[in-house]
Amino acid sequence: MKDMASGEGRRHRHNLVPLAALISREMKSEKMEKPTVRYGHAAQSKKGEDYFLIKTDCQRVPGNSSSTFSVFAIFDGHNGNAAAIFAREHLLNHVLGAMPRGLGREEWLQALPRALVAGFVKTDKEFQSRGETSGTTATFVIVDGWTVTVASVGDSRCILDTQGGTIATLTVDHRLEENVEERERVTASGGEVGRLSIVGGAEIGPLRCWPGGLCLSRSIGDMDVGEYIVPIPYVKQVKLSNAGGRLIIASDGIWDALSSEMAAKNCRGLPAELAARQVVKEALRTRGLKDDTTCIVVDIIPPDNSVLPSSSPKKQNKLKALFFRKRSRSSVNKLSKKLSAVGIVEELFEEGSAMLAERLGNDESTCQSTSGLFVCAVCQVDLAPSEGISVHAGAIFSTSTKPWQGPFLCADCRNKKDAMEGKRPSGVKVA
Ligand SMILES: [Zn+2]
Repeated sequence: MKDMASGEGRRHRHNLVPLAALISREMKSEKMEKPTVRYGHAAQSKKGEDYFLIKTDCQRVPGNSSSTFSVFAIFDGHNGNAAAIFAREHLLNHVLGAMPRGLGREEWLQALPRALVAGFVKTDKEFQSRGETSGTTATFVIVDGWTVTVASVGDSRCILDTQGGTIATLTVDHRLEENVEERERVTASGGEVGRLSIVGGAEIGPLRCWPGGLCLSRSIGDMDVGEYIVPIPYVKQVKLSNAGGRLIIASDGIWDALSSEMAAKNCRGLPAELAARQVVKEALRTRGLKDDTTCIVVDIIPPDNSVLPSSSPKKQNKLKALFFRKRSRSSVNKLSKKLSAVGIVEELFEEGSAMLAERLGNDESTCQSTSGLFVCAVCQVDLAPSEGISVHAGAIFSTSTKPWQGPFLCADCRNKKDAMEGKRPSGVKVA
């Protein structure tokens, strides 16, 4: 088998399982059939800029129902709804279009993080080429069996409530106010970060990026702010234990009112549809309708278990100690190979770098189309032999990679990469 985990991908499987009981449980779960996925959705609109996507009939192998997977996504638009609508329409297709063909299930899951990066960047580039303003967050969740893959830009969060009663965040908030690393990246790429200044010089509100005044450091769209506001998603992939778990995906209308813990605990024991409604209701009760408020609840339920997830956290308290929470960081530091979630959730992949070269890696298997031509690793157009530019070309600090090594980018995507890294004046658009 080709080692898809080589290169830059930060994939790690734990061999350290602390209890024999957990080992046997894990072995059982490998053989177990797929869990049942149940979901619910609720929303209250204020500005009409929140959009969502629920698609439970996707297939890895078209026509093969045993290869079914589900997609859940939230798009919280700003400065209009055009970017949110566009992302809802195109992001899934662009991600799947970047997946190599003919992969088995494990290889398919391993290839997802890279395809998610390509799909997000392609969607952003296409939307910007339409010349419309507006931008959107995107929190995009793929559930395939027990494996959950989350890709996210912006501040629409996805949390996981495990059967053990422990709550983990599967996204990072790309808010300038709260994310020091992102602030440093934006500043280093030429953006100004500061608060809104009102008459008299007083500064109000959260930290924003200027020009444009956006509070987010990553988004899809936003052609009127600097291109260092990038669409490159933070990606996390975890495998649940056979106890299953509950995902809560929501826009900041929820998270500005409720902490992750409050949201999870507030809806425990309720079926997904009621749980989503309960979370929205609780957010409105706490804060009023100040913003678009959207929530999707996804329950991943063991096939032989009709009990609702997380209905009895007390019983599972000893497992809680085995689940090490980590404060997730949107890291540009390649050395941050931290292992987390030992025990009842296995972390398969985590990467948050905003550098396209790091995210697309060195994997040659993704460079060629079925026709044998090289393709752009982002937009998937065929490249003439002389046309492709290595994603690694011009990387000053690169020692392990060579400028003639794939993956390759077309000239347009290479321009986009330079702009995202602040190497091209922002606001200058390719015609
Ligand atoms: Zn391209």
